Amino acid sequence: MTQAAPQIPLPAPQPESDFYWEKCKAGELWLRHCKACNRAYFYPRDICPFPECFSRDTDWIQSSGRGTLHTFAIVHRGPTPAFRDKVPYIAAVVELEEGARIPSWLVGIEFGEGEIRPDAVQCGMAVEVFFEEIDENISLPMFRAA
Ligand SMILES: [Zn+2]
Repeated sequence: MTQAAPQIPLPAPQPESDFYWEKCKAGELWLRHCKACNRAYFYPRDICPFPECFSRDTDWIQSSGRGTLHTFAIVHRGPTPAFRDKVPYIAAVVELEEGARIPSWLVGIEFGEGEIRPDAVQCGMAVEVFFEEIDENISLPMFRAA
């Protein structure tokens, strides 16, 4: 008897983020945007997260899906059993053109013998979003070199 592989933890959409996940399902990346201070932010929430603002005058904007790699880590040891067959992978923070930073995965980087070439990944490199369908509700935004 075989045991099913543990699943990676998936997002649990909340009322504030239902729109975000619906758009991800449609292959679009949307961000919250503060109309008072004119800044975009992630994760989706109704109140502007910048302490000097905290305005409730916020709306949604569509992201171009393009940005640059702000920072990253090459993960060689999965944090939980569910990630053991995913390694090595690149945990990334992407700065989108709209200014918001989003934690995600950077994929499609050249592998050699099960390794990611560190010189193939550089902070500041151009990246673009794509969506990986996980199940009927969740498509995760991920990034690849642009
Ligand atoms: Zn604001």
